[in-house]
Order: sequence, then C-alpha cells, then structure tokens
Amino acid sequence: MKFNTKTIHGGQENIDPAFGAVMPPIYQTTTYAQSAPGGHKGFEYSRSKNPTRSNLERAIASIENGKFGLAFSSGMAAIDAVIKLLKPGDEVIASSDLYGGTYRLFTTIFQDFGVKFHFINMSAPSNIEQHITKKTKLIWVETPTNPMMNILDIKSTVTIAKKYRVLLAVDNTFATPYLQQPLCLGADIVMHSATKYLGGHSDVVMGALVVNDEKLAKKLYFIQNASGAISGPQDCFLVLRGIKTLHIRMQRHCENGMAIAQFLNNHPKIKKVYYPGLENHPNHHIAKQQMTGFGGMLSFVPATEKLDEALKIIENLKVFTLAESLGGVESLAGHPATMTHASIPKSEREKNGIVDTLIRLSVGIEDVDDLIADLNQAIF
Ligand SMILES: *Cc1c(COP(=O)(O)O)cnc(C)c1O
Repeated sequence: MKFNTKTIHGGQENIDPAFGAVMPPIYQTTTYAQSAPGGHKGFEYSRSKNPTRSNLERAIASIENGKFGLAFSSGMAAIDAVIKLLKPGDEVIASSDLYGGTYRLFTTIFQDFGVKFHFINMSAPSNIEQHITKKTKLIWVETPTNPMMNILDIKSTVTIAKKYRVLLAVDNTFATPYLQQPLCLGADIVMHSATKYLGGHSDVVMGALVVNDEKLAKKLYFIQNASGAISGPQDCFLVLRGIKTLHIRMQRHCENGMAIAQFLNNHPKIKKVYYPGLENHPNHHIAKQQMTGFGGMLSFVPATEKLDEALKIIENLKVFTLAESLGGVESLAGHPATMTHASIPKSEREKNGIVDTLIRLSVGIEDVDDLIADLNQAIF
C-alpha cells in the first residue's frame, strides 16, 4: 500500500465484524465480559487494551512503516515512557534545540532520578560521538527542531547509534510520516505529539510511539500498561479520523508554508526567516535528502529589535490566531520566548537563536492569499 492509501486503510481491516461499520466503533468501556476466568477475546481491561485504541495504534504504525504502535494520553506521556526504559546512571544525548516540554521533563523530573542528559548541538553528527560513553543508552533527536527549524541528519545519527549500540528516538511531530519516516532510515523509536498534525484539528491531546523491534515494543507496552498514561477511546477515534486526511492536509501545509516563507524572506521589514524549504536555510540540502517536503512550520525575526514592535505584529494578525500548539487546519502565531519555550532559561534560549523577538507560525490550510494579506497588514 502507498502512503495516501495507508492513511485511510492502514491497519483497518475487518474493524467491525459485528455490523460492518466503516468507521471503527468507539468502545467506551472499561471492562469486557469473560465466559470463564481468563476466557476473553483479547480484551480484559481498557488500561491494558481497548479495541478503538488498538485500531488507532495499528493505523499509526502503518503510516510510520513500523510494526508496533502505542497511543498515550499526550506527547509528553509518550516521551516519559521512553525515558522509563532507562535506569539511574544511564546517559542520554539530546539535541539542545528541543521542544520546551521535553527539556523540562528531562531536566526537572528524570535528572532527579539519576539519568544524566547531555544537551548538545547536533548539526554536526560527529559532535554526538564525542559525548558517547559506556553509559549512553539513548540519543534523542527532534527534526525539524522547534522553533528554529534546524534539520538534523537522521541517517548519519543512525550510523553512530548503531556503531555504539545506543537506541535512537526521533520526535517526528513536525515532519509527520508524510514528509519523513525515521524508522525507514534506521531509527529505533518514532515519537509523536499526535495533538499536532496527526490529529490535525486542534481538538485532541495525544501522544504516540512506533517501533519495529518486538522486544522493545513489549517493554514499552509494559510501561504503558504499568504507568497507565493511555489515551481514551473517544480521543483515539478523533485521531484516527484525523489521520485519514493527513496526506492532503500536509500537501497544503507544505504549499502554504513555502509561499509564506518566500513572502517573508523578500519582505524588507523581516530580518531572518527559518524554513527548511528556503535555499538560504543552512540545512536545506539535508532537508531535501531526508524529507519529501518542508511542512507548515516556520519562524522569523522582524527587522525591529524592539520587543513591543515585534509583539505588535502578532497582535495585529487577524486570520492567524495567537495561541500555543501547532499542526491544526487553522493558522496560528506564537511567541516562543514567553509561550512554548518559557520553561527554558533565557541564556539557554539565546544560545540556540531563540531571541525575544522571534515569532513562530504554524501555517494552516486556509487560502494562502488571505494568510499573506494578513501578514502584510500586520507587519508595519
Ligand atoms: C507538542 C509537542 C510535544 C509534546 O506533546 P503534547 O501532546 O503537548 O504532550 C513534543 N514534541 C514536540 C515537537 C511538540 O511540538
């Protein structure tokens, strides 16, 4: 099956043997009748397994070209499950330019449990090798990064991870499997905040993991069941519905993203645009190799160095909504320094280029002429 068919049918064979419903029933149940103790049909208790969740987990595995999918109550819960594979004394190498919540989870929760995190610049994969020790168990990569849109070379990172037998996890939230499939490049774990593009309609918070290795899948399933951060059946239904249009939404996100990046790039009042599809992007060549398009996320720095003038641009926007989050059908604008990345200290932020005047856009699938007109009136 090709990708655009998988989004609709992947893992969805025989979903309702009872009545032939085309969409999977929402099994809003905690428990399942047993004919005798242990005599059940594969489902006992919905923390362990629920049919609607299983449908979604198969769909996510299918579009990521993986064997096993796991759905969690949020992206953070999915990341939390991955770090619970580790023990005190283990070390993790992560890119320094990371989703703020991931950085917060690593540094304020798991560091206290004795896991050591190295946050490094991964733009040159050889940097990773320098930080590998006997205790390194996991490399955590996000690409494109949030909000600087840096592209990390997944294939080269896989080579290093395999050489030292270290697990490689890729947060694929920004790219989605429509643009990039890390498991096919050799990564061990793909993670999603399904809250974003997979759900796609800004109405569900959910996370997911996909892996190929059965032993790893069993460990993660054990953690999912033991810790309990599962997603509910209604939410699973909504994300499953979202995935069915992922390919056409992503196609439009890419078209609109590129048009807006070019508009801003040519605007005299804009100093810098961060979008991997622009030829002036420092990692454009890697993006072209490992992605099939460049997505709907971009950041920019206005020419003004006055914070109030930069914030005024965001306030002037009418079609773009000022809000956290990303990946929905509607366009959003955000201010990383006070919103998504406020949990990262200013000095750390600025090391990674997140200046206080940086503005992030999640470009939606509205008519691009309206989006450009909106930006044009907002930038004064
Ligand atoms: C939103 C996001 C997360 C966290 O996911 P939640 O669903 O909000 O818990 C992790 N990584 C990236 C890149 C994100 O954008």
